[in-house]
Parts: sequence; structure tokens; C-alpha cells
Amino acid sequence: MARVFNFAAGPSMLPQPVLERIHAEFYDYHGTGISPLEMGHRTPYFAEIADECEHRFRRLLSIPDDYAVLYMPGGATLQYSAIPLNFLGSKHTAAYIDTGHWSKRAIAEARKYADVHVFSGLDATSWQLSGDEAYLHFVDNETIDGIEFDAIPEVGLPLVCDMSSNILTRPFDVSRFALVYAGAQKNLGIPGLGVVIVRRDMLGKAHPLTPKMCDYSVFDATGSMQNTAPTFVWYVLNEMLRYVEDQGGTEAMARAAKAKSVMLYEAIDASSFYLNSVDRRYRSRINIPFQLADEHFNDLFLQQAQVAGLAYLKGHRALGGMRASIYNAMPQVGVEALVSFMQAFENEVNV
Ligand SMILES: *Cc1c(COP(=O)(O)O)cnc(C)c1O
Repeated sequence: MARVFNFAAGPSMLPQPVLERIHAEFYDYHGTGISPLEMGHRTPYFAEIADECEHRFRRLLSIPDDYAVLYMPGGATLQYSAIPLNFLGSKHTAAYIDTGHWSKRAIAEARKYADVHVFSGLDATSWQLSGDEAYLHFVDNETIDGIEFDAIPEVGLPLVCDMSSNILTRPFDVSRFALVYAGAQKNLGIPGLGVVIVRRDMLGKAHPLTPKMCDYSVFDATGSMQNTAPTFVWYVLNEMLRYVEDQGGTEAMARAAKAKSVMLYEAIDASSFYLNSVDRRYRSRINIPFQLADEHFNDLFLQQAQVAGLAYLKGHRALGGMRASIYNAMPQVGVEALVSFMQAFENEVNV
């Protein structure tokens, strides 16, 4: 069976060179006689992988020295609890920007711990912050809604950001943030880890009842190895970072993301058969939902796309229609194939 272009939102497509490397190292990692699946987290060869991973992250995102990089189980979702537990300190309120599905998830969890001030929209000048919030949380790219910030908001509060679906797709200034986090299964590999980049002066005020597995200080102090770490996920993460470096880093990824997304939006906008209703200024470069003007054709579209080797284009159940997720691993030719298919499908059924 041939491989398909996988447009799934997550877990998502991995780059071919990453799969090949994992394949080559699968039975015998660098002469150790064991598979990366069998690696002990305290072995010297795993320490090397963790070290490489850390250096690659710091190089790729120019992470300043006063920031820790933590590798925590629980994906992005655990962070919805960890953030208020670690950052509220003596305060009782936090600001959350609601831009869509994942914002709402973060807000619902934060409400267990804080008096949450919710603001909507992507224009920071419209947010009526009281100024006594412990931090401001936002989702940089709403994976389901297809909405992405075009700039880091300017506010006088520590910024906390969910970059699960767009980390490493463009350069950004880490020093503007108190904390950035991302689940691994989109641009960082496979499910099982949340990566947290946190400024160390924000640590040390966790609520006393904070579970150890949510406590940033504990993860920082133990090199994220207070318990058995998900070694294979971490190993794949390191390979993903190697891939991005080999491609030319985040600038190159940003150019590719722009080229791919512009091509797809142009195809959607050129036709009245396909629709995307997101404000053009905030259209996501990474997750592109679109509807068929005549929804009767949805099933046929998905069936024929699958036959053409274009998989997992079905939209999230909350929105219906289609969604193409085009993470760093999706090559330009995958999007070209999708656009050609969309045009051919429209011509075929629109007679
Ligand atoms: C996928 C996703 C999540 C959830 O990630 P998990 O690792 O499954 O917890 C959260 N936020 C955003 C923006 C996402 O895209």
C-alpha cells in the first residue's frame, strides 16, 4: 500500500526522512543492541538524545538562558490545569482570550482554580483587562476554527500561549512570553508529551496542592525525569527538530507554510463551490477548514479524495465540512495534489 498525503489535525503526518530514520534505528539504536522503544530514561544514550533535543530547541527558537524547556506527559491538555496551579500565586484572577474551541477548553479548566476574565476577539485593544490578572492566556492558532493570531498581543500581563498547532511554523520572540506550550503530536512528533518553555522567574509559587506531575519547578529540577519519561516520544521529538533544522529552521518553515496556505486559500476563494468564512487577516496558515457550498457532495468528496491518496480531510464534528491540516511535515506537492483534486471534483459534479 502506498503512503497517502495525511491531512489529519493530529496525530498528524510525520516527515518521510523522520520515518526513515526511525526505521533504520528501530532494532538497534547506534550499536546499543536495543530499540528506541526499549530505552531506559536514565541510560547514557538517552541522556544524549535529551541533550541534543534541548540544544536543538534552544537553537531553533533562540530560547534565552533564563527559560527552562520542560517535557511533560499529558499533552497540551494537562497544561490547562498546570498553568493556573503554577501561576496564580496569591492572585485569584486570570485573563483568557476566547478565540475558539481550544480557548474554551482552557477556560473551562481554569475556572476550577481562578476567577477567569474572558475576552473575545483577536484585537488586543478591545480587551478590557483589569490589570490585576495573574497572566493572560491565548491560543495562537485555533486548530479547529482555523483562526491564527498575526502578531503577539501587546498587554501588560505575563503572556501564556498554547502553540500546539503552530509551534515551529514561524520564528517568534520567546522573551515576550512567560510560558509557551504545545502538545507534541502536530509539529513535534507523536502523542504523549507537552513541551513547555517557561521563564524561570515565574516558578516557585505553585499552589501547595499542585500534583507533582503538574509542578514546573519539579520538572525543571529533575530535567523532566522525576518519573519514567516517555522516551520514545522524546526520541521522535528530537528527530522532528533535526528535520526542521535540516530544512533551514523556522524561517524556512514559515516560507513553506505561507506558500502552501496561500495556494489552498486561492483555490478556495477562486471558486464558489468551496467556502472559508474566516476573517482574512486571521486565517490560519496551518489548519484550513472549508465547506462545500452544496453539502450533499461531502461524502462523495471524501470518498474520492481518499481514492486519490488525500486522507483525513473530514472537518471537525463541531464545524462539519472539510479541514486540511498542513503542518511542517506536509510537502508542497501534497497541497498541489489537493488543489488539483478540488478543481477536478468541482468540474466533475458541477455540470
Ligand atoms: C490539539 C490541541 C490541543 C490538545 O492537545 P492534547 O495534546 O490532545 O491535549 C490543545 N490546544 C490546541 C491548540 C491543539 O491544537
